[in-house]
Amino acid sequence: MTEIFENYEIKNESTFKIGGKVKKIAFPSSIDDLVNLLNSNEYDIVLGGCSNVLFSSGYINKNIIITKNINEFKIEDDRIYVSCGTKGPLVSKSVMDKTLSGFEFLIGFPGTFGGMITMNASAHNQSISDCFVCADVFDKYTKKILKLKKNDMNFSYRNSVLKDKRYIVISAEFKLNRGNKEQINEIMKRNIEFRKKHQPSLSFGNAGSIFKNPTNDSAGRLLDLCEMKGVCEGGAKVFDKHANFILNFNNATSTDVLTLMYKMYSKVREKYTIELKPEIIFIEGDNIQENKLWEIMN
Ligand SMILES: Cc1cc2nc3c(=O)[nH]c(=O)nc-3n(C[C@H](O)[C@H](O)[C@H](O)COP(=O)(O)OP(=O)(O)OC[C@H]3O[C@@H](n4cnc5c(N)ncnc54)[C@H](O)[C@@H]3O)c2cc1C
Repeated sequence: MTEIFENYEIKNESTFKIGGKVKKIAFPSSIDDLVNLLNSNEYDIVLGGCSNVLFSSGYINKNIIITKNINEFKIEDDRIYVSCGTKGPLVSKSVMDKTLSGFEFLIGFPGTFGGMITMNASAHNQSISDCFVCADVFDKYTKKILKLKKNDMNFSYRNSVLKDKRYIVISAEFKLNRGNKEQINEIMKRNIEFRKKHQPSLSFGNAGSIFKNPTNDSAGRLLDLCEMKGVCEGGAKVFDKHANFILNFNNATSTDVLTLMYKMYSKVREKYTIELKPEIIFIEGDNIQENKLWEIMN
């Protein structure tokens, strides 16, 4: 069954806890429901965990599908079959129980497989592309479902063929490596400890890293050298322990976040002549000022 809402208050769907009203939103609960929605041609955007997006706090005149209720997966031997809305941490724990290695990095962040494949999510020297075999995708041009193999995906840093929005991930297959349960558990513990020490928890809204790392450098390092840690704009604040995170620490709006991002971007550009590119995705609303800021940074 698909739940559909109009004029929907979106902020609690996003890990940033920011956002205004969306014209129409659909929560399909099965792959058939999702395909029906996609066939209808009515929808502009497909999202999963909304953990890499900033929704405008203005009115969002778009129809959006959120796949988080399509969340089945199965493990057969060393193969994992996941539907698009399945979240990473649950799968990473289940594969550990089957002594399978390759998903240890998924323990620490709230993305769905649809979003993680699109963004080629990575951390701790592992990435979603490492063990990827293929995905069933809906082709918005031909309205057909096809299988994309690893070679078709053009995976690179935070990028894949899916980012041009022609294909929507429905489900995917991965092949993991046989490992040792204690070792896998140890790596996962280490990953969690690292995050606790260096990155914000979700007790304050955030969307993970704000900017992509420039080639051979780190956005966090450059922003730190520009003394951005702790800088605030309205209810948004650069995280004290890592300058590439913005926290929604006091009812921040999207304008607060974008203005702060622009400050971060400008400082690095002035000091190092490097133009940082956003890693997060902005879902535009009716605020022209915000849309202009976003355009400058892209
Ligand atoms: C606390 C925290 C820590 C994080 N740490 C990391 C990290 O270490 N490494 C990392 O890579 N990311 C990290 N992230 C960012 C985020 O979790 C990842 O980018 C993740 O891949 C996004 O998944 P999602 O389902 O939330 O995608 P969404 O935010 O919902 O969407 C992201 C993009 O994917 C597209 N998309 C979503 N589903 C589909 C689909 N089925 N088909 C086609 N396109 C789709 C959307 O249109 C959008 O363009 C972190 C985020 C948070 C909040």
